Amino acid sequence: MKLKHFFPLLAGISLGASVSATSIEKDMPYLTLSDGSRIPQLGCGVWELNGQEAYKSVTESIKLGYRLIDTAQYYRNERETYQAVLDSGIPREEFYITTKLNPSNGSSEKNIRDSLDRSLKNLGGKIDLVLIHWPFSNDEMAWRIMEEYVQEGKFKSIGLSNYSPEALRRILKIAKIKPVLNQVELHPYNSKYPTVVEYEKEGVKVEAWSPLGAGRQGLLRDPVIADIAKAHGKSSAQVILRWDLQRGIITIPRSKNPAHIKENISIMDFHLSDEEMKQIDALNRDDALWDI
Ligand code: NAD
Repeated sequence: MKLKHFFPLLAGISLGASVSATSIEKDMPYLTLSDGSRIPQLGCGVWELNGQEAYKSVTESIKLGYRLIDTAQYYRNERETYQAVLDSGIPREEFYITTKLNPSNGSSEKNIRDSLDRSLKNLGGKIDLVLIHWPFSNDEMAWRIMEEYVQEGKFKSIGLSNYSPEALRRILKIAKIKPVLNQVELHPYNSKYPTVVEYEKEGVKVEAWSPLGAGRQGLLRDPVIADIAKAHGKSSAQVILRWDLQRGIITIPRSKNPAHIKENISIMDFHLSDEEMKQIDALNRDDALWDI
């Protein structure tokens, strides 16, 4: 289903009514997913933010031009995240909202449907992208139910998170609708090069969670990244997010700090050379933050 048909009541409303004229929004790269829908390549995540923090962070992010917002049932902040979208006054169809089915809501068909219905209620009745948060025993049943929700026009797209290539192929075998993307841990210390190619061969885009290493591992103090940042007059975080964009990865950094939120989206005005991209690639240690 294409974006323009997804919010039929809102389609056609002039985008000029919003604040969409900032240069960042004009410069925001979009990727086209396998079902034909388009996703901004940079967004904001709200993991570990309580409801009020999520509301504030998303409100600030929207003002600065973010349109992709990544929440989850597990984060317990869907409602406040959506409230920030509503309060922005910007037409809903300009946003791309993702949530994720929590596997602990997946013990039966009824529990899966109930939790998806709760997310729909929290997020205004339609959701751009719903992911299975990580593989679990009933995930094939969950996938079939999520396909139904797409056919009923409740979800625009569906995808996966934390799926290995083998687990992805298991879902592909039973899927009538292919997962549009797989959201996985990805940053310069865990850059997943061969694996990303495997996903992309299946037509599945890759979205990076913890793109800044979740503030752990000292990634933002890495001397190679710091030197590249200095050469461009940018911060280490900006260099890492730019590396994502140039790899064709969708990326969703999280911050409560308005200065960082601004910094993280101010990455459309510089370019890393092939040599700099290779220097960052060479930092890979296959060092996963979490064992999911
Ligand atoms: P992240 O890599 O985005 O790092 C967040 C940390 O970096 C925070 O401590 C923040 O204060 C700091 N930070 C942000 N911008 C900065 C800047 N410019 N300079 C210095 N520090 C900065 O970590 P994350 O939250 O783990 O990942 C991002 C999002 O990915 C999450 O919010 C969530 O939406 C998603 N996620 C998904 C999964 C999954 O299993 N699917 C797992 C983890 C995270």
